[in-house]
Amino acid sequence: MTMVHTHYKVVIAGGGPAGAALAIHLLQAGIGPVLIAEAEEYTARRAGESIPSAATPLLAKLGIPVADMLTHHHPSQGIQACWGSDTPAHRTYTTPGWHLSRPAFDSQLARAAGKQGATLLQNTRVFGAKSEMGVWQLCLHGEHARICTADFVVDATGRKAYLAEAQGATRRVDHHLLGYYAWLPADTQSPVTLIEAVENGWWYMAALPGQKAAVAFMTHPETGRRLEVQKPEDWYDLLLQTTTIKKHLLSHSRPEKISVHAAHSQELDKKAGFSDSLNGWLACGDAASAYDPLSGQGITKALETSAWACHAIRDYFSGRYEGLETYNYLLKGTYRNYHTLRRQYYREEGRWPHADFWQQVHEYTPSISHLTPLTL
Ligand SMILES: Cc1cc2nc3c(=O)[nH]c(=O)nc-3n(C[C@H](O)[C@H](O)[C@H](O)COP(=O)(O)OP(=O)(O)OC[C@H]3O[C@@H](n4cnc5c(N)ncnc54)[C@H](O)[C@@H]3O)c2cc1C
Repeated sequence: MTMVHTHYKVVIAGGGPAGAALAIHLLQAGIGPVLIAEAEEYTARRAGESIPSAATPLLAKLGIPVADMLTHHHPSQGIQACWGSDTPAHRTYTTPGWHLSRPAFDSQLARAAGKQGATLLQNTRVFGAKSEMGVWQLCLHGEHARICTADFVVDATGRKAYLAEAQGATRRVDHHLLGYYAWLPADTQSPVTLIEAVENGWWYMAALPGQKAAVAFMTHPETGRRLEVQKPEDWYDLLLQTTTIKKHLLSHSRPEKISVHAAHSQELDKKAGFSDSLNGWLACGDAASAYDPLSGQGITKALETSAWACHAIRDYFSGRYEGLETYNYLLKGTYRNYHTLRRQYYREEGRWPHADFWQQVHEYTPSISHLTPLTL
């Protein structure tokens, strides 16, 4: 019989890759019971479908071996990019990365957390959290509405960083960027992620299981509005102006709907801390810091840093409260490194110096005299 807890050692708001991975790490470290409250179900399409080979060993540690990945996802052999030149550059992974079915992937991780003993409540949103007399009180809304208590809370709610903001942390947005997405019938023979820079932004295509591909146009909000890319016909006209990506479309590829996703870089000024009554909290995954999809690192970073979050929480429960400050410090440094790399990548594209998109990207980007070569 499953025991129902109303008090948890840790409550995690958000059951995306970061929240589920952290739950697994915590339970593997003997910290529990753990509750994951996830606002949705793992059925809707989500942006973010390409992960590099570096993610594979991280997933194996979390209980998802290659054999399980193969049942739902396509191996990806690397990246092909038209960036800085019309001639595609190739980067081949030494071991395969993955083109993900995101609903299946998020659900696989959540199930792995369940196997370790986490309680997962889907369609259940953490609506409020306040700490009083040494304990967090959390108000859950939705299918499993209830009040529960916890010793520690984690914000894994993605870019909105809902709980961390309520604790006084501030989101710093660095580069405004939107992803205009469609999932199209496509020739999915290409086992690489395609990237192509164009005058008004850049395109991305990842072949997914089931003869479909995720195709996205990334641009600034103003450019997106000016070009009216939210209209399927205008989006599609722009897609047909690409040189490599359009070659992978099937003839009946025109989308019915374009979905728009925030894709800016951001970080919280404070990623972990204490409530007024000195209960611990931290943010992980995109809630702590979110990367430009050009990096292709969002999910891998979420998996990797969830292990750091687990260390910080373990330290907290052992009375080593400075672990939360170390976590802040580590994530800040990682975000700084990401920023430098992002600047370098965008600097590699100089074909449209007068286009609004590239001017804005480069104006924000201080000139760097000695660039390391683009690793795509
Ligand atoms: C356009 C675009 C393209 C991208 N492409 C890639 C890519 O190719 N490769 C890559 O690695 N990354 C990519 N990313 C980034 C990647 O999607 C994220 O880094 C990753 O999803 C972060 O995982 P997370 O668990 O932190 O957040 P999320 O995946 O956002 O999960 C947060 C979860 O919290 C839930 N939630 C929100 N509020 C509440 C609440 N109050 N209570 C309970 N639950 C709540 C949400 O329903 C969601 O399931 C892309 C992102 C965008 C926007």
